[in-house]
Amino acid sequence: MKDQSTAIIASGFDGDSSKLERYHCINPPIYHASTVLFESYAELCSANQGQYDGFTYGTDGSPTQRAFEEAMRDLEGGYFTRAFPSGLLAITSVLQAFLQSGDHLLVCNSVYGPVRRFAANVLAKFGVTTSYFPANCGADIELYIRPETRFILLESPGSNTFEIQDVPAVTEVARRHGILTAIDNTWATPLFFKPFDHGIDISIHSVTKYISGHSDVLLGTATVTQACYERFYKLCRSLEIFAPQEACYLALRGLKTLKVRLAQHAASALELATWLEGQGAVEAVLHPALPAHPEHAIWKRDFTGASGIFSFVLKPQYGQEAVERFVDALELFGIGYSWGGFKSLVTAGRFAQSELSRYGDRWIIRLNIGLEEVEDLKADVAQALLRLQG
Ligand SMILES: *Cc1c(COP(=O)(O)O)cnc(C)c1O
Repeated sequence: MKDQSTAIIASGFDGDSSKLERYHCINPPIYHASTVLFESYAELCSANQGQYDGFTYGTDGSPTQRAFEEAMRDLEGGYFTRAFPSGLLAITSVLQAFLQSGDHLLVCNSVYGPVRRFAANVLAKFGVTTSYFPANCGADIELYIRPETRFILLESPGSNTFEIQDVPAVTEVARRHGILTAIDNTWATPLFFKPFDHGIDISIHSVTKYISGHSDVLLGTATVTQACYERFYKLCRSLEIFAPQEACYLALRGLKTLKVRLAQHAASALELATWLEGQGAVEAVLHPALPAHPEHAIWKRDFTGASGIFSFVLKPQYGQEAVERFVDALELFGIGYSWGGFKSLVTAGRFAQSELSRYGDRWIIRLNIGLEEVEDLKADVAQALLRLQG
Protein backbone atom coordinates (compact mmCIF):
# COMPACT_ATOMS: atom_id res chain seq x y z
CA MET A 1 0.00 0.00 0.00
CA LYS A 2 1.56 3.29 -1.14
CA ASP A 3 1.45 6.37 1.03
CA GLN A 4 -1.23 9.00 0.22
CA SER A 5 1.43 11.49 -0.87
CA THR A 6 2.73 9.04 -3.49
CA ALA A 7 -0.79 8.33 -4.67
CA ILE A 8 -1.49 12.08 -5.08
CA ILE A 9 1.59 12.55 -7.26
CA ALA A 10 0.54 9.64 -9.52
CA SER A 11 -3.12 10.67 -9.66
CA GLY A 12 -5.08 12.69 -12.19
CA PHE A 13 -3.07 13.30 -15.32
CA ASP A 14 0.12 11.39 -16.07
CA GLY A 15 1.30 13.53 -18.95
CA ASP A 16 -0.04 11.21 -21.65
CA SER A 17 -2.08 13.58 -23.76
CA SER A 18 -3.40 10.69 -25.90
CA LYS A 19 -5.58 9.81 -22.92
CA LEU A 20 -7.34 13.15 -23.00
CA GLU A 21 -10.85 13.27 -24.36
CA ARG A 22 -11.22 14.45 -27.91
CA TYR A 23 -11.67 18.17 -27.39
CA HIS A 24 -11.03 20.27 -30.45
CA CYS A 25 -10.71 23.72 -28.98
CA ILE A 26 -10.78 26.46 -31.65
CA ASN A 27 -7.91 28.24 -29.88
CA PRO A 28 -4.68 26.56 -28.75
CA PRO A 29 -4.56 25.57 -25.09
CA ILE A 30 -2.22 27.40 -22.71
CA TYR A 31 0.40 25.03 -21.36
CA HIS A 32 1.96 25.52 -17.95
CA ALA A 33 5.21 23.61 -18.08
CA SER A 34 8.75 23.60 -16.88
CA THR A 35 9.03 19.81 -17.31
CA VAL A 36 7.81 18.16 -20.49
CA LEU A 37 7.94 14.37 -20.50
CA PHE A 38 9.83 12.13 -22.92
CA GLU A 39 8.45 8.80 -24.11
CA SER A 40 11.66 6.94 -23.32
CA TYR A 41 15.24 7.35 -22.16
CA ALA A 42 16.35 6.93 -25.78
CA GLU A 43 14.25 9.95 -26.72
CA LEU A 44 15.81 12.02 -23.94
CA CYS A 45 19.26 11.01 -25.21
CA SER A 46 18.41 12.03 -28.75
CA ALA A 47 17.32 15.42 -27.39
CA ASN A 48 20.68 15.80 -25.61
CA GLN A 49 22.38 15.22 -28.95
CA GLY A 50 20.21 17.85 -30.62
CA GLN A 51 18.42 15.25 -32.75
CA TYR A 52 14.92 15.70 -31.42
CA ASP A 53 12.42 18.10 -32.88
CA GLY A 54 9.95 18.01 -29.98
CA PHE A 55 9.94 20.21 -26.91
CA THR A 56 12.52 19.28 -24.30
CA TYR A 57 11.83 21.77 -21.51
CA GLY A 58 9.63 24.77 -20.70
CA THR A 59 12.27 27.20 -21.94
CA ASP A 60 11.73 25.80 -25.46
CA GLY A 61 8.37 27.55 -25.37
CA SER A 62 5.16 25.64 -25.94
CA PRO A 63 2.75 24.82 -28.76
CA THR A 64 0.89 28.06 -27.93
CA GLN A 65 4.05 30.10 -28.41
CA ARG A 66 4.88 28.20 -31.63
CA ALA A 67 1.39 28.86 -32.99
CA PHE A 68 1.81 32.61 -32.47
CA GLU A 69 5.37 32.64 -33.81
CA GLU A 70 4.36 30.78 -36.96
CA ALA A 71 1.42 33.11 -37.53
CA MET A 72 3.77 36.10 -37.29
CA ARG A 73 6.40 34.45 -39.50
CA ASP A 74 3.84 33.85 -42.23
CA LEU A 75 2.32 37.33 -41.96
CA GLU A 76 5.75 38.96 -42.20
CA GLY A 77 6.99 36.62 -44.91
CA GLY A 78 10.15 35.76 -42.97
CA TYR A 79 11.90 32.45 -42.29
CA PHE A 80 11.74 32.20 -38.50
CA THR A 81 10.06 34.16 -35.71
CA ARG A 82 10.84 34.11 -32.01
CA ALA A 83 8.64 35.66 -29.33
CA PHE A 84 10.22 37.65 -26.49
CA PRO A 85 8.81 38.81 -23.15
CA SER A 86 8.71 42.42 -24.44
CA GLY A 87 9.40 44.49 -27.51
CA LEU A 88 12.53 45.95 -25.97
CA LEU A 89 13.90 42.47 -25.24
CA ALA A 90 13.32 41.54 -28.89
CA ILE A 91 15.41 44.53 -29.97
CA THR A 92 18.20 44.02 -27.43
CA SER A 93 18.39 40.28 -28.17
CA VAL A 94 18.71 40.90 -31.91
CA LEU A 95 21.56 43.33 -31.25
CA GLN A 96 23.27 40.75 -29.03
CA ALA A 97 22.87 38.08 -31.69
CA PHE A 98 24.55 40.01 -34.48
CA LEU A 99 27.13 42.26 -32.80
CA GLN A 100 30.43 41.49 -31.14
CA SER A 101 33.30 43.33 -29.54
CA GLY A 102 34.89 45.85 -31.90
CA ASP A 103 31.75 46.27 -34.00
CA HIS A 104 30.01 49.57 -34.70
CA LEU A 105 26.22 49.89 -34.63
CA LEU A 106 24.23 52.60 -36.43
CA VAL A 107 20.84 53.55 -35.02
CA CYS A 108 18.34 56.08 -36.35
CA ASN A 109 18.06 59.11 -34.06
CA SER A 110 14.26 58.75 -33.80
CA VAL A 111 14.60 55.31 -32.19
CA TYR A 112 12.48 54.07 -29.27
CA GLY A 113 14.22 55.76 -26.32
CA PRO A 114 15.23 52.78 -24.14
CA VAL A 115 17.36 51.39 -27.01
CA ARG A 116 19.79 54.27 -26.38
CA ARG A 117 20.09 53.25 -22.74
CA PHE A 118 20.84 49.64 -23.74
CA ALA A 119 23.49 50.77 -26.22
CA ALA A 120 25.17 53.09 -23.70
CA ASN A 121 24.95 50.84 -20.64
CA VAL A 122 25.30 47.32 -22.05
CA LEU A 123 26.65 47.22 -25.62
CA ALA A 124 29.39 49.72 -24.76
CA LYS A 125 30.50 47.46 -21.89
CA PHE A 126 31.05 44.64 -24.39
CA GLY A 127 33.06 46.78 -26.78
CA VAL A 128 30.32 47.67 -29.28
CA THR A 129 30.19 51.36 -30.18
CA THR A 130 26.94 53.00 -31.25
CA SER A 131 26.28 56.18 -33.18
CA TYR A 132 23.07 57.78 -34.41
CA PHE A 133 22.12 58.94 -37.89
CA PRO A 134 19.32 61.31 -38.96
CA ALA A 135 16.19 59.23 -39.57
CA ASN A 136 15.54 60.99 -42.87
CA CYS A 137 19.05 60.62 -44.35
CA GLY A 138 18.12 57.98 -46.95
CA ALA A 139 21.09 56.94 -49.14
CA ASP A 140 23.28 59.41 -47.22
CA ILE A 141 23.49 56.67 -44.60
CA GLU A 142 26.75 55.97 -46.43
CA LEU A 143 28.28 59.05 -44.75
CA TYR A 144 27.82 57.44 -41.33
CA ILE A 145 29.25 54.03 -42.15
CA ARG A 146 32.64 53.17 -40.69
CA PRO A 147 34.93 50.26 -41.64
CA GLU A 148 33.72 48.38 -38.52
CA THR A 149 29.99 49.10 -38.98
CA ARG A 150 28.15 45.76 -38.88
CA PHE A 151 24.53 46.55 -38.16
CA ILE A 152 21.93 49.27 -38.82
CA LEU A 153 18.78 49.60 -36.72
CA LEU A 154 15.88 51.50 -38.27
CA GLU A 155 12.49 52.50 -37.00
CA SER A 156 9.96 53.94 -39.40
CA PRO A 157 8.16 56.10 -38.54
CA GLY A 158 10.19 57.15 -35.52
CA SER A 159 8.73 57.03 -32.02
CA ASN A 160 7.18 60.40 -31.08
CA THR A 161 8.44 62.36 -34.10
CA PHE A 162 7.18 60.15 -36.98
CA GLU A 163 9.97 60.57 -39.54
CA ILE A 164 9.57 58.05 -42.36
CA GLN A 165 12.81 56.43 -43.46
CA ASP A 166 13.73 55.64 -47.04
CA VAL A 167 14.19 51.96 -46.20
CA PRO A 168 15.04 50.68 -49.73
CA ALA A 169 17.71 53.39 -50.07
CA VAL A 170 19.26 52.46 -46.71
CA THR A 171 19.19 48.70 -47.30
CA GLU A 172 20.72 49.11 -50.76
CA VAL A 173 23.73 50.89 -49.25
CA ALA A 174 23.89 48.45 -46.33
CA ARG A 175 23.97 45.41 -48.63
CA ARG A 176 26.73 46.95 -50.68
CA HIS A 177 28.79 47.23 -47.49
CA GLY A 178 27.84 43.79 -46.14
CA ILE A 179 25.94 45.35 -43.22
CA LEU A 180 22.82 43.74 -41.74
CA THR A 181 19.66 45.79 -41.19
CA ALA A 182 16.79 45.45 -38.73
CA ILE A 183 13.67 47.55 -38.48
CA ASP A 184 11.31 48.21 -35.61
CA ASN A 185 8.05 47.75 -37.52
CA THR A 186 5.70 48.30 -34.58
CA TRP A 187 3.85 51.36 -35.91
CA ALA A 188 2.97 49.84 -39.28
CA THR A 189 2.18 46.39 -37.85
CA PRO A 190 2.81 43.43 -40.18
CA LEU A 191 -0.18 44.63 -42.23
CA PHE A 192 0.99 48.06 -43.46
CA PHE A 193 4.70 47.51 -44.14
CA LYS A 194 6.56 44.44 -45.38
CA PRO A 195 10.23 44.86 -44.35
CA PHE A 196 11.53 41.83 -46.27
CA ASP A 197 10.20 43.28 -49.54
CA HIS A 198 12.42 46.30 -48.94
CA GLY A 199 15.72 44.53 -48.29
CA ILE A 200 15.53 44.33 -44.49
CA ASP A 201 17.09 41.28 -42.76
CA ILE A 202 15.23 41.35 -39.42
CA SER A 203 11.77 42.69 -38.57
CA ILE A 204 10.93 43.50 -34.95
CA HIS A 205 7.58 44.20 -33.29
CA SER A 206 6.41 45.34 -29.93
CA VAL A 207 3.38 43.02 -29.86
CA THR A 208 2.39 44.99 -26.76
CA LYS A 209 0.86 47.58 -29.12
CA TYR A 210 -1.67 46.87 -31.90
CA ILE A 211 -1.18 43.13 -32.26
CA SER A 212 -2.28 42.34 -28.71
CA GLY A 213 -4.38 45.49 -28.81
CA HIS A 214 -5.86 45.69 -25.32
CA SER A 215 -3.13 47.21 -23.15
CA ASP A 216 -2.85 44.07 -21.05
CA VAL A 217 0.03 42.17 -22.68
CA LEU A 218 3.80 42.70 -22.89
CA LEU A 219 5.37 40.78 -25.77
CA GLY A 220 7.77 41.21 -28.67
CA THR A 221 8.82 39.34 -31.78
CA ALA A 222 11.81 39.25 -34.07
CA THR A 223 11.52 37.63 -37.50
CA VAL A 224 14.62 36.82 -39.53
CA THR A 225 15.54 35.73 -43.04
CA GLN A 226 16.98 32.28 -43.66
CA ALA A 227 20.47 33.76 -44.00
CA CYS A 228 20.23 35.23 -40.48
CA TYR A 229 18.58 32.24 -38.87
CA GLU A 230 21.61 30.41 -37.50
CA ARG A 231 23.16 33.34 -35.62
CA PHE A 232 19.78 34.42 -34.31
CA TYR A 233 18.71 30.96 -33.17
CA LYS A 234 22.05 30.38 -31.45
CA LEU A 235 21.49 33.47 -29.30
CA CYS A 236 17.90 32.43 -28.50
CA ARG A 237 19.08 28.97 -27.44
CA SER A 238 22.00 30.36 -25.44
CA LEU A 239 19.77 32.77 -23.50
CA GLU A 240 16.91 30.23 -23.45
CA ILE A 241 14.56 32.94 -24.68
CA PHE A 242 10.88 32.15 -24.27
CA ALA A 243 7.74 34.21 -23.78
CA PRO A 244 4.92 34.05 -21.24
CA GLN A 245 2.37 31.58 -22.58
CA GLU A 246 -0.71 33.63 -21.65
CA ALA A 247 0.80 36.54 -23.55
CA CYS A 248 1.32 34.35 -26.64
CA TYR A 249 -2.27 33.16 -26.41
CA LEU A 250 -3.61 36.72 -26.15
CA ALA A 251 -1.35 37.92 -28.94
CA LEU A 252 -2.58 35.19 -31.27
CA ARG A 253 -6.14 36.13 -30.38
CA GLY A 254 -5.34 39.80 -31.01
CA LEU A 255 -3.92 38.97 -34.42
CA LYS A 256 -7.31 37.64 -35.54
CA THR A 257 -8.95 41.05 -35.14
CA LEU A 258 -5.94 43.22 -35.98
CA LYS A 259 -7.16 44.25 -39.41
CA VAL A 260 -10.60 45.47 -38.34
CA ARG A 261 -9.32 47.20 -35.21
CA LEU A 262 -6.56 48.88 -37.15
CA ALA A 263 -8.96 50.14 -39.81
CA GLN A 264 -10.96 51.93 -37.11
CA HIS A 265 -7.88 53.31 -35.32
CA ALA A 266 -6.47 54.51 -38.65
CA ALA A 267 -9.63 56.23 -39.87
CA SER A 268 -10.20 58.06 -36.58
CA ALA A 269 -6.55 59.11 -36.29
CA LEU A 270 -6.40 60.50 -39.82
CA GLU A 271 -9.62 62.41 -39.32
CA LEU A 272 -8.43 63.90 -36.05
CA ALA A 273 -4.98 64.69 -37.51
CA THR A 274 -6.53 66.46 -40.51
CA TRP A 275 -8.79 68.49 -38.22
CA LEU A 276 -5.87 69.40 -35.93
CA GLU A 277 -3.95 70.87 -38.89
CA GLY A 278 -6.60 73.58 -39.06
CA GLN A 279 -6.37 74.58 -35.39
CA GLY A 280 -4.69 77.92 -34.66
CA ALA A 281 -2.39 76.77 -31.84
CA VAL A 282 -0.94 73.94 -33.90
CA GLU A 283 2.22 74.46 -35.94
CA ALA A 284 2.47 71.00 -37.53
CA VAL A 285 0.82 67.61 -37.32
CA LEU A 286 3.27 64.71 -37.57
CA HIS A 287 1.23 62.05 -39.32
CA PRO A 288 2.78 60.29 -42.35
CA ALA A 289 -0.53 60.04 -44.25
CA LEU A 290 -0.94 63.83 -44.32
CA PRO A 291 0.34 65.38 -47.57
CA ALA A 292 2.16 68.05 -45.51
CA HIS A 293 4.30 65.42 -43.78
CA PRO A 294 7.91 65.87 -45.03
CA GLU A 295 8.25 62.19 -46.04
CA HIS A 296 4.68 61.69 -47.16
CA ALA A 297 5.80 60.55 -50.62
CA ILE A 298 8.01 57.82 -49.18
CA TRP A 299 5.20 56.65 -46.89
CA LYS A 300 2.86 56.50 -49.87
CA ARG A 301 5.36 54.55 -51.93
CA ASP A 302 6.26 51.93 -49.29
CA PHE A 303 3.32 51.58 -46.89
CA THR A 304 -0.22 50.36 -47.43
CA GLY A 305 -1.70 52.18 -44.43
CA ALA A 306 -1.10 54.41 -41.42
CA SER A 307 -1.95 53.31 -37.91
CA GLY A 308 -3.55 55.33 -35.14
CA ILE A 309 -0.79 57.18 -33.31
CA PHE A 310 0.65 60.55 -34.28
CA SER A 311 1.97 63.76 -32.76
CA PHE A 312 1.49 67.46 -33.18
CA VAL A 313 3.79 70.39 -32.56
CA LEU A 314 2.49 73.51 -30.84
CA LYS A 315 3.36 77.03 -31.92
CA PRO A 316 6.47 78.38 -30.14
CA GLN A 317 4.54 80.54 -27.66
CA TYR A 318 3.17 77.44 -25.93
CA GLY A 319 5.54 76.14 -23.27
CA GLN A 320 5.38 73.56 -20.53
CA GLU A 321 2.57 75.18 -18.57
CA ALA A 322 0.29 75.36 -21.59
CA VAL A 323 1.02 71.72 -22.41
CA GLU A 324 0.26 70.73 -18.83
CA ARG A 325 -3.08 72.56 -18.95
CA PHE A 326 -3.95 70.88 -22.27
CA VAL A 327 -3.07 67.36 -21.16
CA ASP A 328 -4.86 67.66 -17.82
CA ALA A 329 -7.97 69.12 -19.50
CA LEU A 330 -8.45 66.07 -21.73
CA GLU A 331 -11.21 63.86 -20.40
CA LEU A 332 -11.27 60.90 -22.80
CA PHE A 333 -7.49 60.51 -23.16
CA GLY A 334 -5.64 58.61 -20.45
CA ILE A 335 -2.22 60.02 -19.54
CA GLY A 336 0.16 57.13 -20.01
CA TYR A 337 2.75 55.28 -22.04
CA SER A 338 2.36 52.67 -24.71
CA TRP A 339 -0.29 52.62 -27.43
CA GLY A 340 -2.26 50.41 -29.78
CA GLY A 341 -5.00 49.66 -27.24
CA PHE A 342 -8.71 50.45 -27.17
CA LYS A 343 -8.39 53.59 -25.07
CA SER A 344 -7.07 56.91 -26.33
CA LEU A 345 -3.88 58.08 -24.63
CA VAL A 346 -1.78 61.22 -24.50
CA THR A 347 1.87 61.92 -23.71
CA ALA A 348 3.91 65.05 -24.29
CA GLY A 349 7.51 66.10 -24.22
CA ARG A 350 10.34 67.87 -25.94
CA PHE A 351 11.34 64.69 -27.74
CA ALA A 352 13.21 66.63 -30.38
CA GLN A 353 15.63 68.45 -28.16
CA SER A 354 18.73 66.28 -28.29
CA GLU A 355 18.97 64.72 -31.73
CA LEU A 356 16.18 65.86 -34.00
CA SER A 357 16.66 69.34 -35.31
CA ARG A 358 13.55 69.54 -37.45
CA TYR A 359 11.36 70.77 -34.60
CA GLY A 360 14.05 72.32 -32.45
CA ASP A 361 13.08 72.04 -28.82
CA ARG A 362 9.39 72.59 -29.51
CA TRP A 363 6.77 70.81 -27.39
CA ILE A 364 5.34 67.74 -29.04
CA ILE A 365 2.08 66.15 -27.94
CA ARG A 366 1.48 62.51 -28.90
CA LEU A 367 -2.00 61.10 -29.26
CA ASN A 368 -2.83 57.41 -29.41
CA ILE A 369 -6.27 57.22 -30.93
CA GLY A 370 -8.39 54.48 -29.39
CA LEU A 371 -11.72 53.03 -30.41
CA GLU A 372 -13.95 55.79 -29.01
CA GLU A 373 -16.24 57.66 -31.42
CA VAL A 374 -14.06 60.15 -33.29
CA GLU A 375 -16.50 63.07 -32.88
CA ASP A 376 -16.29 62.66 -29.11
CA LEU A 377 -12.49 62.65 -29.28
CA LYS A 378 -12.51 65.77 -31.46
CA ALA A 379 -14.78 67.60 -29.03
CA ASP A 380 -12.50 66.61 -26.16
CA VAL A 381 -9.36 67.85 -27.93
CA ALA A 382 -11.18 71.07 -28.93
CA GLN A 383 -12.13 71.92 -25.36
CA ALA A 384 -8.61 71.09 -24.14
CA LEU A 385 -7.03 73.34 -26.81
CA LEU A 386 -9.03 76.25 -25.39
CA ARG A 387 -7.16 75.70 -22.13
CA LEU A 388 -3.72 76.29 -23.71
CA GLN A 389 -4.07 80.03 -23.10
CA GLY A 390 -4.77 79.56 -19.37
C1 LIG B 1 6.65 50.20 -27.08
C2 LIG B 1 7.68 50.13 -28.11
C3 LIG B 1 8.76 49.27 -27.99
C4 LIG B 1 8.99 48.44 -26.74
O1 LIG B 1 7.99 47.51 -26.56
P1 LIG B 1 7.65 46.88 -25.12
O2 LIG B 1 6.86 45.70 -25.46
O3 LIG B 1 6.89 47.94 -24.37
O4 LIG B 1 8.98 46.57 -24.49
C5 LIG B 1 9.67 49.21 -29.02
N1 LIG B 1 9.50 49.95 -30.12
C6 LIG B 1 8.49 50.79 -30.27
C7 LIG B 1 8.36 51.58 -31.53
C8 LIG B 1 7.53 50.92 -29.28
O5 LIG B 1 6.52 51.76 -29.43
